[in-house]
Amino acid sequence: MSPSLAGERVGVLGLARSGLAAARLALARGAAVYASDSRDTPVTRAAADELRALGGDAQVGGYDVGKLAACDRIVLSPGIPPSADILREPALASSAIVPEIEFAVQQLDAEVVAVTGTNGKTTTTSLIAHLLCAAGRDATVGGNIGTALSAVVLRDPQPEIVAVEVSSFQLSRTRDFAPTVGVLTNLAPDHLDWYATVDEYYADKAKLFQNGTESNRWVLNGEDDAARALPGDSPGGRYYFRVASTPPADELGGYLAEDGWLVLRLGESASEERLLPSRELRILGPHNVANSLAAAIAARLCGAEPEAIAKGLRTFNALAHRMEPVIERNGVLWINDSKATNIASTRVALRSLDRPTILLLGGRHKGEPYTGLLPELRGRVRCVVSYGEAADLIDQDLAAHAEVQRVDGPFDEVVRRAAALATSGDAVLLSPACSSFDMFSNFEERGERFRQLAQAEDLT
Ligand code: ADP
Repeated sequence: MSPSLAGERVGVLGLARSGLAAARLALARGAAVYASDSRDTPVTRAAADELRALGGDAQVGGYDVGKLAACDRIVLSPGIPPSADILREPALASSAIVPEIEFAVQQLDAEVVAVTGTNGKTTTTSLIAHLLCAAGRDATVGGNIGTALSAVVLRDPQPEIVAVEVSSFQLSRTRDFAPTVGVLTNLAPDHLDWYATVDEYYADKAKLFQNGTESNRWVLNGEDDAARALPGDSPGGRYYFRVASTPPADELGGYLAEDGWLVLRLGESASEERLLPSRELRILGPHNVANSLAAAIAARLCGAEPEAIAKGLRTFNALAHRMEPVIERNGVLWINDSKATNIASTRVALRSLDRPTILLLGGRHKGEPYTGLLPELRGRVRCVVSYGEAADLIDQDLAAHAEVQRVDGPFDEVVRRAAALATSGDAVLLSPACSSFDMFSNFEERGERFRQLAQAEDLT
């Protein structure tokens, strides 16, 4: 039986994908809904119209604090950062403000595997659902991954198990979020445009473990000291994945063996289950071996058999905008890694390539110095093409140590410059280490434009 919200007043902040889904869910469960978005755009207006047609109250271009304060709980969309003014409204100081993910989980009748971390969340989340489906389970994805969890809850029947991608912003306000399996892919500085310190950012990620019990299972990056330490003394079993080191005999989890096979070691007896050689994975680079191991451990902990996991790993393709090979033309391989919006992700992208590379680096700066890329640039990158708002900082940080060409024009010109620089045998890699918001609405739009241009016959 689905829980009822009849008699409740539910406020919703934000009317993009997740907010709209949460408002639909609240209405479907019988609540009275007031939803608002400070932006007045065609998208928010259409969402408000839809909610009104469903019997809700909706407002765009601002919000009514009185109406929000009168709600029993207020659902917060993931797009609203912790620093948003609305969250500092004195009238809402005692309101129950619930992140959309937590609201959805309260309404969900399925097992939850949660994935967080700085990089690799979407890949690992998708992999977990793919592996579980390969094992015959009715599994799907939800959360910060294109399908709001509230939309998954509205599915009839609900899936058996959901792999949920959770961002630090969403975790920051959770109170009773309690996944049965939690995966932490890795930790690296990010979002320093929102957080005052890295510790604050990590503290939000640590909320994954806040409601741990003995029956919880935590899948952690065994080679990342910060990630290993993050659960602190939260109860629950620990399972570690490693790609560059052999685990100690008493460690449970999974690792990349010296012969190149992915191996699991999970049972009481810690016996080993060999899955497949890493060369059979269709996704590139050591970071994707890490993602594959993390997902394989999580799927195994949810009951998938090793043979099904191996089959699933063999059939999983690169996701769009994540080290996605776009075209190989005249011997030049064009790769779209538009999703790489921080230094750590661009570093791993470079490590997974063995061709001389023209690297497109730029966009809106997010706070980390680009000097962090120097070890990976050496010997790999023939030329950095810097562009966008961050171009000055990139030039300052890198020009003394690497070949950097600056393009001040629009993105199309940046891609054309790369085409002019590339010769047969090279890769052109869009892995910008910056957000896209100076030139595009999101990283998908940036990646699509790159793909269109790379595929255009008349590019050079
Ligand atoms: P997220 O959802 O956390 O942003 P994605 O799976 O979408 O992660 O991958 C985004 C980018 O991060 C990829 O294009 C790749 O460059 C990088 N990346 C993916 N997995 C990892 C990993 N395990 N460690 C470090 N970087 C990674």
